[in-house]
Amino acid sequence: MTRRVSIFGATGSIGQNTIDLIARDPEAYDVVALTGASNIEVLAHDAIRLNADVAVTADEARLDDLRAALSGSSVEAAAGQAALTEAGCRPADWVMSAIVGAAGLAPGICALQQGATLALANKESLVCAGGLILQTAKDHNARLLPVDSEHSAVFQALVGEDMDAVERIIITASGGAFRDWPMEKLAGATLAEASSHPNWDMGQRITIDSASMFNKALELIETREYFGVSPDQIEVLVHPESMIHAMVGFKDGALMAHVGPPDMRHAIGYAMHWPARKSLPVERLDLAQIGALTFRAPDDVRWPALRLAREVMERGGLSGAVFNAAKETALDGFIAGHLSFPGMAEVVDQVLTDTDPSHIDAPMTLDNVMAADHITRNAARSAIQQRAG
Ligand code: NAD
Ligand code: MG
Repeated sequence: MTRRVSIFGATGSIGQNTIDLIARDPEAYDVVALTGASNIEVLAHDAIRLNADVAVTADEARLDDLRAALSGSSVEAAAGQAALTEAGCRPADWVMSAIVGAAGLAPGICALQQGATLALANKESLVCAGGLILQTAKDHNARLLPVDSEHSAVFQALVGEDMDAVERIIITASGGAFRDWPMEKLAGATLAEASSHPNWDMGQRITIDSASMFNKALELIETREYFGVSPDQIEVLVHPESMIHAMVGFKDGALMAHVGPPDMRHAIGYAMHWPARKSLPVERLDLAQIGALTFRAPDDVRWPALRLAREVMERGGLSGAVFNAAKETALDGFIAGHLSFPGMAEVVDQVLTDTDPSHIDAPMTLDNVMAADHITRNAARSAIQQRAG
């Protein structure tokens, strides 16, 4: 039986890895929607070769380009936010949520509302609106499967286990590009330096977030939301080799570790075939050759993002949406050259401190989350401008 699948963020790093797996067994899938933003050529090429029903670009101004690239094929072209949401509502069995940023939230909610299994790479959704996502999945009998390497690892270590027996969850972090840099050099870190990851080949934004540990900060919150554990049960461990993705510590002292190569096709493929395991085209590790795996404690001074994530978990409410929007805007500022590398955490810290509590205490509806996101982006942009001025 073929499975109807849609891929949000199909042109990105996770999207392309998902397509790589689907293209190896095209008979097994019926592709409903592929979405992208500016990369029209890749979007159209994949939509045609996978015979998708519809290709959607988030960028309304590119609709004519998309139409032209799809001409002569039977793939429908669409553009804009409403079209993205509409694509999320098209019946599908399995949906990959791999848009980067809070923009992935609304289409993901639509996919859950129609009862699809949502493979969630877009961790920002859980950070912004964890309670809403989980409740929507429950209300519509939809399943949420993690597609972050750490969370997929935890999920796999928990198969057959009772959550009551879990004492702690340890997520690992490579430490990113600046793990071993002297602290005083960080203020001069360039965009090119921050955009190169020692182990993983990922989109630019998550690569920079790995260097600042904002990625791990988001993942702390993602762990809390996904697995329902308390913040003090979640630890970050720096592990430069990125072979162990996470560990679950049980009451009897056992630690179950998930070991694998740094290749997202493992976590994507696990979510695609769950609860079965199928052969995947990932490297088989030769541990004798690797020889040693190393670990160190995270440094809260080098990586203030980790402390900020703990404050956000403590605060609760919509503070995750505020945190994420401040982080996304600070990252835009760094990419545009308006903010230094350490300036990102300083801006996020300031915005979190200055946010009117009424935004954070509002009920978690999609509208309130998007409003908090919008207000925070404006506040963060002003904070960046003030610093520059
Ligand atoms: P990417 O930048 O490579 O791709 C992002 C995708 O989202 C592209 O298809 C792009 O066209 C689309 N997009 C960008 N802005 C958009 C907008 N405003 N509206 C709609 N679509 C938009 O990113 P990525 O590295 O593939 O990451 C995607 C998501 O997966 C992120 O949430 C990231 O944190 C998560 N993730 C990625 C990896 C990885 O290895 N790349 C690992 C774990 C989690
Ligand atoms: Mg991860």
